[in-house]
Amino acid sequence: MLAQRTSLFKSSGTAAARAAAKAAADAGREIVDLTAGEIWADLAPTVRDGALAAIHHGVNRYTDTLGLADLREVLARKVSRETNQLWQAAEIAVTGGAKQALFNAAMVLIDPGDEVIIPAPYWTTFPAQVLVAGGVPVHVDTRDNGHVPTIEAIERALTPRTRAIVINTPANPSGAVYGRDILGAIAGIAQARNLWVIFDECYGAFVHPPHAHHAIVSVAPEVRSRTVIVNAFSKTLALTGWRIGYMAAPKPVIEAVKALQSHTTSNPNVIAQHAVLNHLRYGDGAYEARLRQQLATARRQGLNILSGLTALPQPDAQGGFYFYLDLSALLQGGSETADDVVNALLAEAGVATVSGTAFGDPTGLRLSYGLPADMLDKGLTRLVETLSRWGTRPVRTARIA
Ligand code: PLP
Repeated sequence: MLAQRTSLFKSSGTAAARAAAKAAADAGREIVDLTAGEIWADLAPTVRDGALAAIHHGVNRYTDTLGLADLREVLARKVSRETNQLWQAAEIAVTGGAKQALFNAAMVLIDPGDEVIIPAPYWTTFPAQVLVAGGVPVHVDTRDNGHVPTIEAIERALTPRTRAIVINTPANPSGAVYGRDILGAIAGIAQARNLWVIFDECYGAFVHPPHAHHAIVSVAPEVRSRTVIVNAFSKTLALTGWRIGYMAAPKPVIEAVKALQSHTTSNPNVIAQHAVLNHLRYGDGAYEARLRQQLATARRQGLNILSGLTALPQPDAQGGFYFYLDLSALLQGGSETADDVVNALLAEAGVATVSGTAFGDPTGLRLSYGLPADMLDKGLTRLVETLSRWGTRPVRTARIA
C-alpha cells in the first residue's frame, strides 16, 4: 500500500511527453522531438575545466549542506549585480537544480491548508510541490491577458488562507515576461496581505527585445524580506544534467532550508559545484552570449515558419525558448483538447510536442526551440503542414483520415 500522498502527484506531463516521443522513436519512427525543456549546446569550456580540475585534485567529500562557501560568495555577488542590492553568502543556498530550490521553498514556507496562488498556464511542478507540502494551489487564468495575471484576478483569488504567490518570469510554458507595473502591483499585494513571493527566474537570461527581465526585489525592494528568488544553471548554461541551482532568500529561510536539505540530499554534487564555480570565476560571458544568439536565431527561424499557420494566432515568445500556441480555433466544440492534437501530431507528422493540459490549459501546445536549426526547421515545417491540412476538421477525424 502506498502512502495517500502519492495520489497527489503523477509523473510530470513534460516527462510523459518526452517518454511518448522516445517510445515512438524506439519503435523505429523518425520523430522530431519538440518537447524538451533544455538547450542543445556544447558544454561551456570553463564548466568542463572546473569539473576536470576537481576530479584531478581528487575532490570527493561532502561539502557544506548549503554548498561550497566560495560558490555561495560568488552567487551572492551575482544576485547583488542582478538585483542592484547587496546580498550575503548567508542568504544563498546551492541546490540540486531549481527544482530542489522550489521544493525547499514549498516545504519550509507552506503549512497544510495554506493556499498558494499560481498563474495558469503554469509549469507543471509548481502545483505538484505545493500539494506535496500539504498546500492548496489556487490558479489564476492568464490566457485573456497575454499570459500575465491581472491584479484584479489575483485579488479575486486571495483568501485569508493565502500564504504565497508564485511568479515565473519569463514563464514556462508561455514565454510571457512580466513588466515592472505588474511586478510592482504584485509586490504591493504581497506586502498588504503578508504573502511570500516565490520568484522563479530560471529563464531570466533569455528575454527577447523589446522585453526585459526585472527582478521583483529590484522593482519593489520592500518585498525582499518576503521573497525567495529561485534560479539555476540548467537553462542559462545548458546544464540540465549537472543539477546546480540556487535560492536567495532571507537568512531564516536559508537556515530552515539547510536543516531540510541536510535530511534530504545533503549537498549538491561536489564536482558540479566546482565546475559552476570555475565558470562563474573565469567565464568571460562569451558562452552565454553564444547561447543567447543561438536562441534568438532559432526564435526568428521558428516564428517565420509558424507564420504559415494562418488559422492560429502567432505566439509572442517573449522569453525562454518555447513557442506556446493557442489551439482554440482548431479544437471542435470543447470535446477535443490539446491532448488530441499532440497524439495526432505524433502519429501523423512524427512531431512530439507538449499538451497544454500538462500546464493546466487544455487549449495550449508547447514547442521547444532549444534544438538544432535543422531539426527545428523539420519539426515546425511538418507541424505547420499537418495542422494546415487539418483545417477546421475535427482533429480526431484528421488523425484517422
Ligand atoms: N523552473 C521552471 C520554470 C522550469 O521550467 C524548470 C525546468 O524546466 C525548472 C524550474 C527546473 O529547473 P532545474 O532543471 O534547474 O531543476
